[in-house]
Amino acid sequence: MTKIKFTFIGPIRQAVTLANLPLKGALRDEQLQVIQGAGILIKNQEIFKIGPYEDLYPEALTVDAEMVYLTEDFVALPGFVDCHTHLCFAGSRANDFAMRNAGKSYLEIAKAGGGIWDTVTQTRNASLEALVEGTVKRANRHLFEGVTTIEVKSGYGLSLSEEIKMLHAIKQANSETAADLIPTCLAAHICPKDFEGSAKEYLETISNELFPILKSENLSNRIDAFIEDSAFSPDDIADYFQKAKDLGLDITVHADQFHVGGSEVAVAFGAISADHLEASTEREIALLANSNTIAVALPGASMGLGVAFTPARKLLDAGGALAIASDWNPGSAPMGDLLMQAAVLGTYEKLSNAELLAGITCRAAAALGLSDRGSIAVGKLADIIFFQTSDYKDITYHQGKLKPEMVWKKGSCVWKAKG
Ligand SMILES: [Zn+2]
Repeated sequence: MTKIKFTFIGPIRQAVTLANLPLKGALRDEQLQVIQGAGILIKNQEIFKIGPYEDLYPEALTVDAEMVYLTEDFVALPGFVDCHTHLCFAGSRANDFAMRNAGKSYLEIAKAGGGIWDTVTQTRNASLEALVEGTVKRANRHLFEGVTTIEVKSGYGLSLSEEIKMLHAIKQANSETAADLIPTCLAAHICPKDFEGSAKEYLETISNELFPILKSENLSNRIDAFIEDSAFSPDDIADYFQKAKDLGLDITVHADQFHVGGSEVAVAFGAISADHLEASTEREIALLANSNTIAVALPGASMGLGVAFTPARKLLDAGGALAIASDWNPGSAPMGDLLMQAAVLGTYEKLSNAELLAGITCRAAAALGLSDRGSIAVGKLADIIFFQTSDYKDITYHQGKLKPEMVWKKGSCVWKAKG
């Protein structure tokens, strides 16, 4: 029998729980549950009780809880969830970035040996150990900045064996970091230029040979595809997504980044999320808002490429569900600072604190199909982050510069800024 361990944290100046918020539509800050002078009683890995510190204190004594007494002002939030990253990769694309900023075209960069194929080559050349090491390093940086759950995509292998290598690296990295890594198979990132056959034939090979291994080796239950002129067409992808659906795999889509088309496919296949959406028009916004597919904004990609943001305000006002993710990748979004990017998106798109914070907590958890996290509520995982301030509004006010002082993951403190 495992020993039951209780931990009691408090008093917390403000606990912003993100509990009981609707999944879809605009949110006002008044809808946020803010508990002043809160205490959180944790039982093993889960939140057992949350409420006023004074009310819970006697119970904490009764169960002989370990007392974590806070002598300074802290704001507690649920651990952040980054529902879209590519942080398993090798190499750097600093040259591409400099060339793009200097006004070079996509083609000129590709001719100079840059672009996504450069990352594919470097990732293929990297050992499993090197990939694991890089992934753990980035995941830990994210964790120490409050991101306790991180989706990580494959998609730089682009062959059966290399995609499997990436997914193995993500699985091993998950066991070496306290953050939870949620793996997604993005073998349909682009059609690899060394594949002899059509895009459809490539997808057929992948779905026939890789999908069964994903299941049997428990490597991923999520299938992603990049639907774009330079990658796969809606027609290319239809059979691939149908096969994924038939196997019970969740579908997510890189949609409407430069041209529309992807979000319509996402809605038609009941995708769990449609991500990017920078090019979405009123039509796609209405389609998404009337579906169960969560729209994911990726402000880090807009900032990396210097292009418009996802129409987050319009998506919310139309009644859509909006999550915000970093898209951390070596090409278009190398920064990987989720809170900073969400805060900047909030300024440009006029998002309330409630919309912004829900986008990186409860609504992002929903985009990963995870109901056990995303809010500070009874029965949820004790993934809790603490900012040293007396007012939660300071977090977006400082536009990402205010970082958590303490990060708790599954009931244990995994990061403390001060010793
Ligand atoms: Zn992406």
